[in-house]
Amino acid sequence: MVVDVQRDFCRGGALAVKGGDEVVPGLDRVIEAFERSGFPIFFTRDWHPRDHISFRDRGGPWPPHCVQGTPGAEFHPDLIVPSNAVVVSKGDDRDAEAYSGFQGTDLQARLKKSGVEEIFLGGLTTDYCVKESTMDARKGGFAVNVIEDCIRAVNVKAGDGAMAIEEMRRAGAELTKSSAVIKRLASTQQ
Ligand SMILES: [Zn+2]
Repeated sequence: MVVDVQRDFCRGGALAVKGGDEVVPGLDRVIEAFERSGFPIFFTRDWHPRDHISFRDRGGPWPPHCVQGTPGAEFHPDLIVPSNAVVVSKGDDRDAEAYSGFQGTDLQARLKKSGVEEIFLGGLTTDYCVKESTMDARKGGFAVNVIEDCIRAVNVKAGDGAMAIEEMRRAGAELTKSSAVIKRLASTQQ
Protein backbone atom coordinates (compact mmCIF):
# COMPACT_ATOMS: atom_id res chain seq x y z
CA MET A 1 0.00 0.00 0.00
CA VAL A 2 1.37 3.38 -1.05
CA VAL A 3 0.26 6.19 1.26
CA ASP A 4 -0.21 9.75 0.00
CA VAL A 5 2.86 10.14 -2.26
CA GLN A 6 1.47 13.37 -3.66
CA ARG A 7 3.13 16.52 -4.99
CA ASP A 8 2.06 18.69 -2.06
CA PHE A 9 4.02 16.48 0.37
CA CYS A 10 7.14 16.58 -1.80
CA ARG A 11 9.71 19.23 -2.69
CA GLY A 12 8.02 22.50 -3.69
CA GLY A 13 4.62 21.34 -2.43
CA ALA A 14 2.24 23.15 -0.10
CA LEU A 15 3.07 20.85 2.80
CA ALA A 16 6.48 19.59 1.72
CA VAL A 17 8.07 17.00 3.97
CA LYS A 18 11.85 16.84 4.29
CA GLY A 19 13.05 14.06 1.99
CA GLY A 20 9.53 13.36 0.71
CA ASP A 21 10.78 12.74 -2.82
CA GLU A 22 13.29 10.20 -1.54
CA VAL A 23 10.60 7.57 -0.93
CA VAL A 24 9.76 7.34 -4.63
CA PRO A 25 12.62 5.23 -6.09
CA GLY A 26 12.32 2.55 -3.39
CA LEU A 27 8.54 2.45 -3.65
CA ASP A 28 8.76 2.16 -7.43
CA ARG A 29 10.99 -0.90 -7.08
CA VAL A 30 8.53 -2.47 -4.63
CA ILE A 31 5.57 -1.59 -6.88
CA GLU A 32 7.30 -3.24 -9.85
CA ALA A 33 7.98 -6.34 -7.77
CA PHE A 34 4.32 -6.46 -6.71
CA GLU A 35 3.26 -6.15 -10.35
CA ARG A 36 5.54 -9.03 -11.34
CA SER A 37 4.12 -11.15 -8.52
CA GLY A 38 0.54 -10.32 -9.43
CA PHE A 39 -0.37 -9.04 -5.97
CA PRO A 40 -2.89 -6.20 -5.69
CA ILE A 41 -1.53 -2.68 -5.17
CA PHE A 42 -3.42 0.02 -3.30
CA PHE A 43 -2.69 3.75 -3.34
CA THR A 44 -4.23 6.22 -0.91
CA ARG A 45 -4.41 9.92 -1.54
CA ASP A 46 -5.38 12.97 0.47
CA TRP A 47 -8.29 14.42 -1.48
CA HIS A 48 -9.55 17.54 0.23
CA PRO A 49 -12.28 19.99 -0.70
CA ARG A 50 -11.11 23.61 -0.94
CA ASP A 51 -12.48 24.45 2.53
CA HIS A 52 -11.36 21.36 4.42
CA ILE A 53 -11.53 21.37 8.21
CA SER A 54 -7.78 20.62 8.54
CA PHE A 55 -6.85 23.90 6.82
CA ARG A 56 -5.76 26.93 8.86
CA ASP A 57 -8.64 29.06 7.55
CA ARG A 58 -10.94 26.76 9.45
CA GLY A 59 -8.78 26.52 12.56
CA GLY A 60 -6.92 23.39 11.47
CA PRO A 61 -3.17 22.76 11.78
CA TRP A 62 -2.25 22.70 8.07
CA PRO A 63 -1.92 25.06 5.11
CA PRO A 64 -4.26 24.12 2.25
CA HIS A 65 -2.89 20.97 0.56
CA CYS A 66 -4.00 18.18 -1.77
CA VAL A 67 -7.08 20.07 -2.90
CA GLN A 68 -9.14 17.89 -5.25
CA GLY A 69 -8.25 18.37 -8.90
CA THR A 70 -5.23 20.62 -8.30
CA PRO A 71 -1.63 19.74 -9.32
CA GLY A 72 -0.69 19.45 -5.62
CA ALA A 73 -3.08 16.55 -5.19
CA GLU A 74 -1.49 14.57 -8.03
CA PHE A 75 0.75 11.63 -7.31
CA HIS A 76 4.48 12.33 -7.53
CA PRO A 77 5.31 12.40 -11.25
CA ASP A 78 7.93 9.64 -10.89
CA LEU A 79 5.66 7.32 -8.90
CA ILE A 80 4.61 4.22 -10.82
CA VAL A 81 0.83 3.87 -10.63
CA PRO A 82 -0.17 0.71 -12.52
CA SER A 83 -3.42 1.03 -14.45
CA ASN A 84 -5.01 -1.81 -12.47
CA ALA A 85 -4.05 -0.37 -9.07
CA VAL A 86 -6.77 0.65 -6.64
CA VAL A 87 -6.75 4.36 -5.71
CA VAL A 88 -8.52 5.23 -2.46
CA SER A 89 -9.34 8.90 -1.81
CA LYS A 90 -9.72 10.11 1.76
CA GLY A 91 -10.32 13.37 3.58
CA ASP A 92 -12.96 14.33 1.04
CA ASP A 93 -15.55 15.24 3.68
CA ARG A 94 -15.09 18.96 4.35
CA ASP A 95 -15.88 18.51 8.04
CA ALA A 96 -13.77 15.45 8.87
CA GLU A 97 -10.00 14.89 8.98
CA ALA A 98 -8.84 11.51 7.74
CA TYR A 99 -5.18 10.65 8.19
CA SER A 100 -5.86 6.95 7.80
CA GLY A 101 -6.68 5.42 4.44
CA PHE A 102 -9.29 3.33 6.23
CA GLN A 103 -11.17 6.32 7.63
CA GLY A 104 -14.41 7.05 5.80
CA THR A 105 -13.41 4.77 2.89
CA ASP A 106 -14.14 1.23 1.72
CA LEU A 107 -10.46 0.25 1.93
CA GLN A 108 -11.01 -2.46 4.56
CA ALA A 109 -13.72 -4.12 2.44
CA ARG A 110 -11.64 -3.85 -0.75
CA LEU A 111 -8.59 -5.41 0.88
CA LYS A 112 -10.68 -8.29 2.25
CA LYS A 113 -12.34 -8.76 -1.12
CA SER A 114 -8.90 -9.02 -2.74
CA GLY A 115 -7.97 -11.72 -0.23
CA VAL A 116 -5.31 -9.58 1.41
CA GLU A 117 -4.04 -10.75 4.80
CA GLU A 118 -0.69 -9.01 4.89
CA ILE A 119 0.10 -5.43 3.91
CA PHE A 120 3.42 -3.85 2.90
CA LEU A 121 3.21 -0.14 3.37
CA GLY A 122 5.24 2.97 2.66
CA GLY A 123 4.73 6.63 1.81
CA LEU A 124 4.02 9.93 3.50
CA THR A 125 3.97 10.83 6.25
CA THR A 126 5.41 8.64 8.98
CA ASP A 127 3.86 10.55 11.88
CA TYR A 128 0.38 11.04 10.38
CA CYS A 129 -1.06 9.08 7.48
CA VAL A 130 1.44 6.20 7.50
CA LYS A 131 1.04 5.77 11.25
CA GLU A 132 -2.75 6.05 11.31
CA SER A 133 -3.15 3.73 8.31
CA THR A 134 -0.87 1.20 10.00
CA MET A 135 -2.81 1.39 13.26
CA ASP A 136 -6.12 0.88 11.46
CA ALA A 137 -4.71 -1.97 9.38
CA ARG A 138 -3.64 -3.71 12.59
CA LYS A 139 -7.11 -3.13 14.10
CA GLY A 140 -8.58 -4.53 10.89
CA GLY A 141 -6.70 -7.77 11.44
CA PHE A 142 -3.95 -7.41 8.85
CA ALA A 143 -0.29 -8.23 9.28
CA VAL A 144 1.55 -5.01 8.49
CA ASN A 145 5.10 -4.45 7.28
CA VAL A 146 6.24 -0.84 7.28
CA ILE A 147 8.96 -0.22 4.70
CA GLU A 148 11.26 1.93 6.77
CA ASP A 149 13.38 3.34 3.95
CA CYS A 150 10.22 4.41 2.08
CA ILE A 151 8.63 6.66 4.71
CA ARG A 152 9.38 10.22 5.81
CA ALA A 153 8.05 12.25 8.73
CA VAL A 154 6.67 15.78 9.06
CA ASN A 155 8.32 16.14 12.48
CA VAL A 156 6.27 19.13 13.65
CA LYS A 157 8.11 18.39 16.88
CA ALA A 158 11.56 16.82 16.61
CA GLY A 159 11.31 13.09 17.21
CA ASP A 160 7.67 12.72 16.08
CA GLY A 161 8.75 10.34 13.32
CA ALA A 162 10.76 8.14 15.66
CA MET A 163 7.88 8.09 18.13
CA ALA A 164 5.46 7.09 15.38
CA ILE A 165 7.71 4.19 14.35
CA GLU A 166 7.81 3.03 17.96
CA GLU A 167 3.99 3.24 18.19
CA MET A 168 3.56 1.22 15.01
CA ARG A 169 6.00 -1.37 16.31
CA ARG A 170 4.12 -1.64 19.60
CA ALA A 171 0.89 -2.15 17.64
CA GLY A 172 2.49 -5.23 16.09
CA ALA A 173 3.72 -3.81 12.80
CA GLU A 174 6.98 -5.21 11.46
CA LEU A 175 9.65 -2.85 10.19
CA THR A 176 11.29 -3.90 6.97
CA LYS A 177 13.33 -2.55 4.05
CA SER A 178 12.38 -2.27 0.39
CA SER A 179 15.24 -4.61 -0.57
CA ALA A 180 13.92 -7.28 1.84
CA VAL A 181 10.37 -6.94 0.47
CA ILE A 182 11.62 -7.37 -3.11
CA LYS A 183 13.68 -10.40 -2.12
CA ARG A 184 10.67 -11.95 -0.40
CA LEU A 185 8.42 -11.32 -3.39
CA ALA A 186 10.97 -12.85 -5.74
CA SER A 187 10.75 -16.10 -3.75
CA THR A 188 6.94 -16.11 -3.75
CA GLN A 189 4.93 -17.79 -6.45
CA GLN A 190 1.45 -16.39 -6.95
ZN1 LIG B 1 -4.58 16.37 4.50
